[in-house]
Amino acid sequence: PDIYLNGQFLRPEEGKISVMDRGFLFGDGVYEVIPCYAGRLFRLEHHLQRLDSSLHAIHMTNPLSTAEWQAILQRLIQQLPGTDQSVYLQITRGSTGKRDHAIPKEIQPTLFAMTQPAIYPDEASLTNGVKAITLQDNRWHRCNIKAITLLANVLLRSEAMDHGASEAILIRDGQAVEGATSNIFIVKKQRIITPPKSEHLLPGITRDLVLELAGQQGMPFEESAISEQALNEADEIWLTSSSKEVMAVVELNGQRVGNGKPGPIYSQIANHYQAYKNLLRKG
Ligand code: PLP
Repeated sequence: PDIYLNGQFLRPEEGKISVMDRGFLFGDGVYEVIPCYAGRLFRLEHHLQRLDSSLHAIHMTNPLSTAEWQAILQRLIQQLPGTDQSVYLQITRGSTGKRDHAIPKEIQPTLFAMTQPAIYPDEASLTNGVKAITLQDNRWHRCNIKAITLLANVLLRSEAMDHGASEAILIRDGQAVEGATSNIFIVKKQRIITPPKSEHLLPGITRDLVLELAGQQGMPFEESAISEQALNEADEIWLTSSSKEVMAVVELNGQRVGNGKPGPIYSQIANHYQAYKNLLRKG
């Protein structure tokens, strides 16, 4: 499918940006990944709101209105009609033609968006759960910004993969904050717990939806810090993200979580999540 770049729809190979783009030189930009089910964008307003707060945090303003983004994204996804897709959009600060860290006053952002067929969590991972390890969080203190600067996350996730795990759960000051590419939840004595939003984690759209669904279903939940010990002693551990959806961790650092199978509260929330998705599919 065609991509969107600075006002134009182009073949991917026709898209050209300057090597002086600050996104390329400094990772000076932000992004969003928006799922699209059966040709419908999932929680678009939430994603665009988070985009605005990421931009605000890096002293940029959204160059386009919600309606303009909507029109661009609709045109992209209509190339794969009625299918499940993953839409990526990125805004970098742009280029002034020279490499200088200081934020220039006069600069035009680089706008990029594309769509790809959805990459799903595989059935086996959803039904059987996945393995995770804990690693020290060595990222910066602005993790609430969805920055394209993802080197720490890349290395952490890669370390998890080297250990045969599919995600790294990150520990900062003795607390489990989130995964390298996902948010975390635990269940203790039937109670769903996820860390409160802070500068140490990305405010996940899936995280918010899971809390919303738990609330609607009258499932007890709280937003509070999760110590490393509480993580180790959890009855259930889940990961959430737009591409993982809700996934159970059944093995942490080689130890079984609960009885080593996705737990009963997981099954409930995963069903509610699928039901919510299916509602959207039917429009
Ligand atoms: N935390 C991190 C570090 C992420 O990279 C992601 C998503 O990729 C998430 C959490 C989950 O966010 P969302 O549910 O909006 O996809």
